[in-house]
Amino acid sequence: METISFFDGRKIPLERHKVRIVQQLNLLPVEERLARIQEASSNLYLLRNKDIFLDMLTDSGVNAMSDRQQAAMLQADDAYAGSESFFRLERTVRDIFGMEHFLPAHQGRGCEKILADLLVKPGDIVPMNYHFTTTRAHIERCGGEVIELLIPEGLKCQSDYPFKGNLDTDALAAFLAEKADRVPFVRLEAGTNLIGGQPFSFANLRETARICRQYDVLLILDASLLQDNLYFLKMKDEDCRDLSLREIMRAVADQCDIIYFSARKLGFARGGGICMRESELVDPLKELVVLNEGFLTYGGMSVREIEAIAVGLEETLDLAVTSQGPEFIAYMVDELEKRGVPVVTPAGGLGCHLDASRFVPHIPQEEYPAAALAAALYIAGSIRGMERGTLSENRDADGNETLAEMELLRLAVPRRVFTKSQIDYAVDRVTWLYENRDLIGGLRFEHEPKILRFFLGRLAPLSDWQEKLAAKFAGDLPGSL
Ligand SMILES: *Cc1c(COP(=O)(O)O)cnc(C)c1O
Repeated sequence: METISFFDGRKIPLERHKVRIVQQLNLLPVEERLARIQEASSNLYLLRNKDIFLDMLTDSGVNAMSDRQQAAMLQADDAYAGSESFFRLERTVRDIFGMEHFLPAHQGRGCEKILADLLVKPGDIVPMNYHFTTTRAHIERCGGEVIELLIPEGLKCQSDYPFKGNLDTDALAAFLAEKADRVPFVRLEAGTNLIGGQPFSFANLRETARICRQYDVLLILDASLLQDNLYFLKMKDEDCRDLSLREIMRAVADQCDIIYFSARKLGFARGGGICMRESELVDPLKELVVLNEGFLTYGGMSVREIEAIAVGLEETLDLAVTSQGPEFIAYMVDELEKRGVPVVTPAGGLGCHLDASRFVPHIPQEEYPAAALAAALYIAGSIRGMERGTLSENRDADGNETLAEMELLRLAVPRRVFTKSQIDYAVDRVTWLYENRDLIGGLRFEHEPKILRFFLGRLAPLSDWQEKLAAKFAGDLPGSL
């Protein structure tokens, strides 16, 4: 395996690319950060990007593109129907996944909407390793229900189990033995997003697929974060160690009936699509693509993005490219652990996840500890993370809070975007905040939307804790931004 070791023994992630286009960043003084977060009602989605120094909200649509992707975008073939750019992407997808059909969509949730519209009817139940916000919203919109069959280890924040995204296959077999007639498909998510970007193992995928075949139920893979899962299969799974990433990708695809992905993540561009073998589902799905997304040769994507995805998918199969994200995340997790900051372990893909339930244990879940931590970190370092906890849940039918199983603040590390010194800066500001965690207080809703409330909700601090936190920062680091 091609690794690079330092002679002095340090374990430092090394950028395997050079920077040739840059975007200037602003770092506002702490007093202005305080004003901006209050204007944004303590919801980091409502901040303006120009007021953020390190945007660690997400890896979605913000990964760095390569020179080859940019070049491909210049020779895109603009056409409503029959674009050569689409056929190039279709060829790449066929080659990589070994699946004949590729149906384009504008992004991952477009795929989820179409699949749910066709397959989910009232009373259906969809088993999965873990839900994703938009996935569950579309299944429930169609009258279905999600049941999560994650292995118990998956919800432990501190662990050394390498495949915390595994589905509990015994539980799946027992469930299907009783209720297979109500199950339109089983969904497995690669690089399981909401539990900290945690992968499944190949044996787990194979066993899940075997059980699905036994009960004649479709297996659908959400491959949005498959890039990170591929890396962990290569590095940690005995079954895959001797295979190339291309071979692992194909072996994974061979176990699945349908694969869909957000190309805002997989493929380093902006779009999405559904890959599948010949089946009676292809034609009805095509009709839904045309109705909801656009004609079959663009599906809501610009042809330029389609070209970039085709190149990006190929680049994903290069370990020097795919290792960047997980290696930087592992470095960040290690550095924070060394300083005693509670983080999700082992390090996964997608980002470094702070465990808010241990970071701010004095804030009850009804006061949104992970969201409060997110607002506090913006004040402390102009860093934007994403709350993944109770705020990201929906209320139940009676209007009661559904308390999340994990209260996480995700600090996404978009691929090839940040340098090591920027990661070191983030580690430093998180550490300062941890030293001052007692100053952080809770939040309450001032305006609470009914659907996906975390996107547009307006919140307010329960005391003047934000002012106090900003004043402490100014006192501790006088003269520093
Ligand atoms: C981001 C994501 C989606 C949705 O994709 P969008 O492109 O944001 O619509 C679905 N599933 C997973 C696992 C994701 O990470």
